[in-house]
Amino acid sequence: PDTSPVTVVGLGPMGAALAEALLANGNPTTVWNRTAGKADRLVARGARRAASAAEAVAASPVTIVCVADYPAMHAVLEPASGALAGRTVVNLSSGTPEQARDAVAWAEQRGARYLDGVIMVPPEAIGRPDTVLFYSGQSACYDAHRATLDVLGGAAQYLGDDPGLAVLYNTALLGLMYATINGFLHAAALVGSAGVASAALARIAGDWFVPSVVLPLCAGVTGQIDSGDFPGDAGDLRAHLTVIDHIVRTSRDQGMATDVPGALRDLVERAIAEGYGDKGYASLVELIRTPAG
Ligand code: NDP
Repeated sequence: PDTSPVTVVGLGPMGAALAEALLANGNPTTVWNRTAGKADRLVARGARRAASAAEAVAASPVTIVCVADYPAMHAVLEPASGALAGRTVVNLSSGTPEQARDAVAWAEQRGARYLDGVIMVPPEAIGRPDTVLFYSGQSACYDAHRATLDVLGGAAQYLGDDPGLAVLYNTALLGLMYATINGFLHAAALVGSAGVASAALARIAGDWFVPSVVLPLCAGVTGQIDSGDFPGDAGDLRAHLTVIDHIVRTSRDQGMATDVPGALRDLVERAIAEGYGDKGYASLVELIRTPAG
């Protein structure tokens, strides 16, 4: 296994989990956190405590930063600027693609290499072979430190040269997650209005509906999304509006709020008003791509 020295800066729940995985793997690990006491448990397990962020950065060829956001990363690393030359920063803090791209230039001005990444799991999943992290930016930088990074999550994926890609994928998938959860919550309330426990719905959704219906539907329209051609012969937007109207009406009839299906209906109605009525459902992506005029 890789046992090169690593520095971890930022010891919140996630940063501490990263440092623990590295220690468990046998990597000499230097740690630093603004609130110094958060390093105590790691030091007791063999981590080396740095007295400053600069000392932490100087201790290893790679510094993994895991703080709240990019402004926090800059607040931590700016005073360590003098130590950054010739070293690599791997930033695993959450942010926006623009912040990730700006961070590359920021690091380059200080002679450092910079790789951006995001963590797709909770702290307790760090260090497992099936744990997913995304990385993007210079591929040479990823390749050089891949063995070390694989200690954090064995199912890591490198997404491409654009440093903003890791956070963009993260944002896209979180949007998918929240939309899916909202859909599930609405469905649970609907069956709940007839006294059905949500666990019964979850079983049916997981055993059959999502894998056999929803996932093939998504996979089936990727060609349309990428080509911009949306045949409506298997059900056009007008037909879908009828179904969505039933969801809204049934929700109202059951005494429920209609926010979740109401948002769907608004989007489909706008698409029909803009001339997409005879196109397939995936044509909604054209409206999503541009702000409403
Ligand atoms: P937080 O997001 O609460 O971040 C806490 C860390 O940020 C602490 O080390 C804190 O230092 C530091 N920090 C915040 N502001 C500053 C600042 N201005 N200057 C210096 N340090 C600062 O905790 P997590 O550990 O949970 O998350 C870290 C990152 O990992 C976040 O970007 C988060 O989105 C991401 N992440 C977290 C997941 C989770 O389940 N926890 C899952 C996936 C990603 P101090 O201790 O001194 O306050």
